[in-house]
Amino acid sequence: MPVLVMKFGGTSVANLDRIKRAAKRVGVEVAKGYDVIVIVSAMAGRTNELVGWVDEISPLYDAREYDAVVGSGENVTAGLMALTLQEMDVPARSWQGWQVPLQTNSAHSAARILDIPPDNIRAKFAEGMRVAVIAGFQGVSPEGRITTLGRGGSDTTAVAFAAAFQAERCDIYTDVDGVYTTDPRICSKARKLDRISFEEMLELASLGAKVLQTRSVELAMRYGVKLRVLSSLNEQSDSAGTLVCDEEEIMETRVVSGIAYSREEAKMTLVSVADRPGIAAAIFGPLSEAGVNVDMIIQNISEEGRTDMTFSCPTDQVKRAEKALAEAKARGEINYHDLIADTDVAKVSAVGIGMRSQSGVAARMFKTLSDEGINIKVIATSEIKISVLIDRKYMELAVQALHDAFELEKLA
Ligand code: ASP
Ligand code: MG
Repeated sequence: MPVLVMKFGGTSVANLDRIKRAAKRVGVEVAKGYDVIVIVSAMAGRTNELVGWVDEISPLYDAREYDAVVGSGENVTAGLMALTLQEMDVPARSWQGWQVPLQTNSAHSAARILDIPPDNIRAKFAEGMRVAVIAGFQGVSPEGRITTLGRGGSDTTAVAFAAAFQAERCDIYTDVDGVYTTDPRICSKARKLDRISFEEMLELASLGAKVLQTRSVELAMRYGVKLRVLSSLNEQSDSAGTLVCDEEEIMETRVVSGIAYSREEAKMTLVSVADRPGIAAAIFGPLSEAGVNVDMIIQNISEEGRTDMTFSCPTDQVKRAEKALAEAKARGEINYHDLIADTDVAKVSAVGIGMRSQSGVAARMFKTLSDEGINIKVIATSEIKISVLIDRKYMELAVQALHDAFELEKLA
């Protein structure tokens, strides 16, 4: 029988009523003849609560125990979903990550999936079980410990199962009815897109759009998993959501498809570092070893052999970055006068595969921001995106102005 993967996020399983609603949708697909693999998140808010408890007891926690605690929210919803389906006379069984087993490496709290042997679940389907309910977000390390895949990781669980079982499609049920040109909460003109390319979705996700975990999009792209984002809350909606697919499957060409933003970005400036060969390696080597995700980098004009080096990183990594740089300074590997952390910034990005062939996108973006009197602090570009760092207080204004400038309200 063809296999379908259906993933329900935290708001879609927030209480027993919602779990019933989700189970009904699963029942519909079973009736159509699919064997269904259901991936569940923890109930809305539960993972944050678990993280909070861990932080309170042990701020510099042992990551193995963090995973043991934080991964547990999904166990509850997996069992409840299986029971709900059984009550509907749908043969269902739940699995925790280690039972599948979903094998990962040992990178606790950010583990990578190594393999999903499908035999256990296949055997159950062969015996007549119709729904395998899997606790998302969790796996098991080679040492036999529970691991988790990073926040939002159930999306990645879902795509990985879709790849392992060659599912016809991977449906991600969430609290919005698809992928929007930007966040409708800050721009009322935002439009739902019927389709978006893997590459654009990957950029949007990594630039701050929270609808899918970045790694899930990466995996879907690599394995050609047909990914659909849709709402489980909207009962009467027969909306097909948004299909994330190959760019060849998208008919109309558009220059910009979406505007993403992130408030969780900090601007770090090393003041007056010696400008010599190897200085960038001496700065960014230790940062990378400390697990700091550096995004944008600028090196200013050098004067009398010294220069300022500016980079951006997530706000929650500022402390780690400061520590790594101070240690490198203490070891005599780098020398700087000051390290200034500016956390009052936001990153706003325009993304679109049309940028590859269309020039003038950057100019239009900069002109739009300048017309609004918004100062750009750092710029970064790739083939299909332009990102700017600006004062956080202008973030919403920038998103709205850019949405207008690129006429995204006309997309659908
Ligand atoms: N419950 C986990 C989290 O909130 C994983 C997920 O829902 O994707 O990050
Ligand atoms: Mg999510």
